[in-house]
Amino acid sequence: MTLPDPPPATLRLRIDTDALAANWRALDRLSGSAEAGAAVKADGYGLGIDHVMPALLSAGARHFFVAHWSEVPDVLRHTDGATIAVLHGVTNESEANYAKATGAIPVLNSLHQAQIWLESGGGPCHLMVDSGINRLGVEPDQLGNPLLQRLEIDTLLSHLASADEDSEQNARQQGIFRQAIPQFNTRKLSLANSAGIALGSDYHFDITRPGLSLYGGVPRAELSEHIQQVAYLEAAVLQLRDLSAGDAVGYNATWRAERSTRVAVLSLGYADGFLRSWGAEGALQHNGQRLPILGRVSMDMVIVDCSDVEVQEGDFCQVIYGLPQASKIAELSQYELLTVLGSRFDRVS
Ligand SMILES: *Cc1c(COP(=O)(O)O)cnc(C)c1O
Repeated sequence: MTLPDPPPATLRLRIDTDALAANWRALDRLSGSAEAGAAVKADGYGLGIDHVMPALLSAGARHFFVAHWSEVPDVLRHTDGATIAVLHGVTNESEANYAKATGAIPVLNSLHQAQIWLESGGGPCHLMVDSGINRLGVEPDQLGNPLLQRLEIDTLLSHLASADEDSEQNARQQGIFRQAIPQFNTRKLSLANSAGIALGSDYHFDITRPGLSLYGGVPRAELSEHIQQVAYLEAAVLQLRDLSAGDAVGYNATWRAERSTRVAVLSLGYADGFLRSWGAEGALQHNGQRLPILGRVSMDMVIVDCSDVEVQEGDFCQVIYGLPQASKIAELSQYELLTVLGSRFDRVS
């Protein structure tokens, strides 16, 4: 049986691909003599890989970064001569074989990973040096290990822990990375994420790895004038109701009407990534007018006050999703705001 297409979704996520492309070009320009790559892990930071890849490729991005091997096919479908680096590296032989078969390049993170790669036949790889985040990467005092000298290292990487702050850790990590460089005969060097790009030319090396700022995130004030919003969220009004003084709203009745109040029930909930933390301070908008959130966010719905706003059932209301502002309102990081977005949105670009 062939089913008809489902009706249009009551939730929309609009991806401004012109803004995305402009953000990549801005970050590439801000990277100085280095070339900007693009972190597209986690489904293009939640926006949808099929929406972000064409825009990034047309802007000129050629180096793509994902975390998992499972993310490779979706990126590969779009690339044409571009390179894909897999940040988690190879943890077993089947991943190494998959790397060979697809041409995606592992970022090796430990002596053990180097061994797995070499035992599976080796070939071009990247190497992550841990300069102080203590996450993935080879320790600086392990860099003399002969195993590493047998690798065919394309790019030597490290990752900054606190680039979004004026922390002395930034210069310290950059120094540790610089000390690692002469020990290898690598073609390229890469240190900076989005925030790292704003730290200046000492941090740029050959390839930068922006993620967040491509998608509208502003991790440092220096980037704010260069970065545009990319993700726009809209949810439809499912029902309007008129409450009397004393009526309670939502689970656990955490909000109660003090006077007659008109409310709208919107098709957006925590299953869509609109977490409960939006409840206290949050609001949506309709034609630029504020619709304060009342009570708890449910799995599939949120209730707003529309007493002073002309709203009809079926109208779409906008979520305030400029990331720096939304981050303050929802008390979520700009990264979380993007990567929590669920699968029920109609993603349009
Ligand atoms: C996710 C990630 C990036 C991108 O960082 P942003 O802060 O999103 O710009 C760069 N490098 C590594 C190793 C990462 O894991």
